[in-house]
Amino acid sequence: MIQNFTSLFDLMDAFPDEQACLDHLRSIRWRDGEFCPYCGGTRVYHFSDRKNFKCGDCRARFSIKVGTIFGDTKLPLRKWYMAIWMITNHPKGIASTTLAKDLKITQKSAWFVLHRLRHAARTNSFNAPLKGTVESDTHFVGGKEKNKHQSKRKPGSQGGANKEMLLGIVERDGELRTMHIGDKTARTL
Ligand SMILES: [Zn+2]
Repeated sequence: MIQNFTSLFDLMDAFPDEQACLDHLRSIRWRDGEFCPYCGGTRVYHFSDRKNFKCGDCRARFSIKVGTIFGDTKLPLRKWYMAIWMITNHPKGIASTTLAKDLKITQKSAWFVLHRLRHAARTNSFNAPLKGTVESDTHFVGGKEKNKHQSKRKPGSQGGANKEMLLGIVERDGELRTMHIGDKTARTL
C-alpha cells in the first residue's frame, strides 16, 4: 500500500493518472473500513465513475478527498503527490517559486500547497484543518476516530494512540524539512 519511492519518476510511474492517485488515497483512508466524511456513517455507496460516493445515512455525495487537505482544491492529486515527494526529498527546504515552476502551477497555488503540507506536518495528519483548530488527535489520512461509527472505532483511540508519523517532514526555522523516522522516511504516500 505504501511504497518507498526513490525517484520522482518512480512515483509518477506508480501513479500514472488521477484515478490511480484517488484509488491510493482511498486505500489509505478507508483501510479500516469505509465511512462518510460528513456523518461518519459506514453505509457507503459507490458510483460507477469510481470517483464519487454516497452516504447511505445522511445521503451526502462526496469524493475520497473530502475532509482531507486535498479536499477543497482543484489541484490534481498527482501534483499534490509530486509536491509531497519534492518536499520530503529536498532536506534544505523548497521555495514556493520552485514548486510553482516544477509543478506548473501558479505561485499562489504553490504557496497554498506548502501551507497545507505544513499543516499536515505539524499535525501528523492529512486531515483538513477543522474550523481553524489544529487537529492533533488524528492519524495520517485516516478518518478521525470520533467521526467513525461506534463499532468501527479502535479501542483506546483517544490521545493519539493510533498516530503514525508517515509524513517525513517537519517545520523548522519556517521551512519544511525532512525528518528520518525509522525506515519510514520518504514513504509519505
Ligand atoms: Zn453521511
